[in-house]
Amino acid sequence: MLKTHYCGDLRKDHIGQEVTLGGWVHRRRDHGGLIFMDLRDRRGIVQMVIHPDDAPDAHKTAGDVRSEFVLSVVGEVAARKEGTENPDMPTGDIELRVRHLEVLNESKTPPFPINEESDVEELLRLRYRYLDLRREGMQRNLRIRDQATAYIRSFFRERDFTEIETPMLTNSTPEGARDYLVPARVQPGTFYALPQSPQQYKQLLMVAGVERYFQIARCARDEDLRADRQPDFTQLDVEMSFATEEDILELFEELFSNLVREVRPDLSFVSPFPRLTYEESMRRFGTDKPDLRYGMELFDINDVAASSEFGVFRNAVTSGGSVEGICVPGGAEFSRKQIDSLTTFVQGIGAKGLVSIALLGQPGSLDEEGIRSPVAKYLAVDLVETAAQRSDAKQGDLLLLVAGEGGKPKLEPGSSHRVRPALDGLRREVASRLQLADPNVLHYAFITEFPLVEWDDEEERWDALHHLFVAPMEEDLHFLDTDPSRVRSRAYDMICNGMELGSGSVRIHKRDLQERVLRLLGISDEEAKERFGHILEAFEYGAPPHAGFAPGIDRIVAQLAGETDIREVIAFPKSKSGADPMTGAPSRVSDEQLSVLGITVVEQPE
Ligand code: ASP
Repeated sequence: MLKTHYCGDLRKDHIGQEVTLGGWVHRRRDHGGLIFMDLRDRRGIVQMVIHPDDAPDAHKTAGDVRSEFVLSVVGEVAARKEGTENPDMPTGDIELRVRHLEVLNESKTPPFPINEESDVEELLRLRYRYLDLRREGMQRNLRIRDQATAYIRSFFRERDFTEIETPMLTNSTPEGARDYLVPARVQPGTFYALPQSPQQYKQLLMVAGVERYFQIARCARDEDLRADRQPDFTQLDVEMSFATEEDILELFEELFSNLVREVRPDLSFVSPFPRLTYEESMRRFGTDKPDLRYGMELFDINDVAASSEFGVFRNAVTSGGSVEGICVPGGAEFSRKQIDSLTTFVQGIGAKGLVSIALLGQPGSLDEEGIRSPVAKYLAVDLVETAAQRSDAKQGDLLLLVAGEGGKPKLEPGSSHRVRPALDGLRREVASRLQLADPNVLHYAFITEFPLVEWDDEEERWDALHHLFVAPMEEDLHFLDTDPSRVRSRAYDMICNGMELGSGSVRIHKRDLQERVLRLLGISDEEAKERFGHILEAFEYGAPPHAGFAPGIDRIVAQLAGETDIREVIAFPKSKSGADPMTGAPSRVSDEQLSVLGITVVEQPE
């Protein structure tokens, strides 16, 4: 047997037993006579001692052993000498007295240390991912992921959901991203698309009478990459017939609460999960994915700004824009330099500037002395009092205001769409500088009542905010033809700590309504028939009402693992440029392969 026990499992109970271990050399210390080595396997590390007199052959071999060699060792588990126990190691009470040692395979010196959690350049980590994954932190993340998906499966199975696989090679699905296309050899000139999500299949499964479906589904979207995005990713895909918003939100609240208890009982979450409408979330936080672990909510002073002597404020409001801000607790202490860097920051995300007002005096009885601001001379005390009152500011706080002029209305009248994203960014930035977000809290929440569509300035048409199968709210249907921007949808998102975890919705299940929405989105009847004929037709054969949801597994697991980048919880992720430095994907293919597919590559000029 190459192995009778795992290194990391050995304890005092094993003292006196002879064991055979297999693993990698984690660390080696040659003390002249004695050689100490730590041997590592998937369960942990154990210290081995090799004595030149007790095991001369093993000692001789051990002299040439280096880090990451693979060994098989036989020896006796013994208590460590008194005073040399290591309470930081689970195996720290014992050591292995080696009798026999065999090198099963040698290793080159690894390109980065495996035995410490040092910062290593990402491309190097990805190039040698199999070594990177040997490191303790990555082993932990792989297990957290496994625990989470295993729990998710058991959760849905217990509730009588059926796990069903859907095709990888399919037709383009409209999730709003570009498709990855796969040429179909047997019908030259035609292409499959990789699924952006199994959206249409899961709806068709509802028509098929499955009623409760789930899948841990692989999806692919050709989008610009970010820390929370990968070209191919995994989502927990769920669909339920005869379900309302309430059924889905309750189900997922239970799932996520249990998931934290199961996988990270040391973390806390806020229960019940808050629910905010889209409108409320935008108004209070400037975003539909706010981090709720801290305050600094947005407030507006449009009424008083409209008559302000300060032209920047007045013009913003009179042109249909707005003046909104946040209050930074204790921020009056910020230096000029700190404020300047916040100004540069908001300018970088679309704001024209930033007005700072330090409250040196007591709000409620402010005078000119009590206000410090680069534009103090234009600001009436009353305006500052109003701002302080609306933000519940205290003496010593700092008001940060952004003014935005009116522009082309996007989702709503006024140009809050410029001010609010800037304040959302500012709020996150300040929170990160002041470390206001508790890293041990998962603040889940649901956002509801999204607008059904948003105006696309460039394409000059309405786009679905989620996707085109989302049902409009019954009571807003009459706006569908008159003022589509006012139609709220039955979509909902789940968010956590400022990140979107997933979306879902009650779906359209009738052909005529689906056709109306497709028309609104500028999809001609002909195109609708060609692209969505199958689902429109299916709706005519007794499609039940249904609703679903699809949170991203990579994001869920990253948060459970305390990571900010989803690549840390994906075994083989792509780099920031979408490449896999280990396998070399994406890569060129031979002319022969191309010619079979009838494809010619047109070289792009540099
Ligand atoms: N298919 C949607 C998505 O991937 C989620 C859903 O509506 O179920 O975003």
